[in-house]
Amino acid sequence: MHAVPRGLALASPLEIRGLRKRYGDNEVVAGIDLRLNAGECFTLLGPNGAGKTTTLRCALGLTRPSGGEIFLAGLPVPERAREARMRVGVVPQQDNLDPDFTCAENLLVYGRYFGLDDATITARIPELLAFAGLESKRDARIQSLSGGMKRRLTLARALVNRPDLLILDEPTTGLDPQARHLIWERLKQLIRNGTTVLLTTHFMDEAERLADRLAILDAGRILTEGSPREVIAAQIEAQVVEVYGDWNGAARNGTSGAQAWAEAHACAFARRYEVSGETAFCYLDDAAPLMAHLAQQSGLRYLRRPANLEDVFLKLTGRDLRD
Ligand code: ADP
Repeated sequence: MHAVPRGLALASPLEIRGLRKRYGDNEVVAGIDLRLNAGECFTLLGPNGAGKTTTLRCALGLTRPSGGEIFLAGLPVPERAREARMRVGVVPQQDNLDPDFTCAENLLVYGRYFGLDDATITARIPELLAFAGLESKRDARIQSLSGGMKRRLTLARALVNRPDLLILDEPTTGLDPQARHLIWERLKQLIRNGTTVLLTTHFMDEAERLADRLAILDAGRILTEGSPREVIAAQIEAQVVEVYGDWNGAARNGTSGAQAWAEAHACAFARRYEVSGETAFCYLDDAAPLMAHLAQQSGLRYLRRPANLEDVFLKLTGRDLRD
């Protein structure tokens, strides 16, 4: 029998233990543990200000942590971050393509940071442009590209060094639905081909589509972690019934029909309910008795659906607005 070298069997593209980052009195990352498996897509999901970008920046050695340990591509960060980053591709939140260069020139200049010679990069440029769907834009200047094209070029640029791990910070924020779908298709293609992907997002659909595993973060802490299905099963009731409309039993005291109905009846049927605006969200394991009750109520409209990641996210991080 061949012995599997321990280091190889256990190598994780990124391992973070007890990561902390403080700005003054503000601890924005408050003890995060994370271990990526090779070949998976791991998603950090959290509202604005949760600490997602700071975690990524620490992982890449771009921000110095206040505490904890990081191993990127098996190397300690920040000590050997430069070396580790040679194995990693990065798509930052803000596009930072060089506006003075063409698409091909951007790829060439970026490839040089990785110590690649011009002949090697030039040979890779056609496949990178094809991956981004930008073959016809080889000599186009960056200003002439749409937002979606710039994102795709930034993604292609991150692949110039053929990374084992691709890190993306909110890759589809600001894109229209067509452009988002194209980015998702490209990411799925990379994951199928064995690239490990770590991405941050505040879009539930993005996490549900792409993530093998995800962690929901808030205030610098991981609140839950697992596959999307595991997280939903562990954190929330199976069914949701949304109730809205005018309830003819509502007191005319300024409360919405759904709120008045929920206060009078929701507890009898739902394990938990929340009223947000004009809608009562009832969370239950068996929706049948509530559906039978609602069928008798005139004026109320309702929708029954399986619980999803957004329900978990709102339960764990609240409905208050984040700026
Ligand atoms: P997310 O990516 O989840 O939106 P960030 O990691 O960008 O969150 O930010 C987490 C918190 O850290 C925010 O409150 C932000 O204002 C704060 N923060 C980030 N960078 C700095 C910095 N350089 N100096 C001070 N505070 C910062």
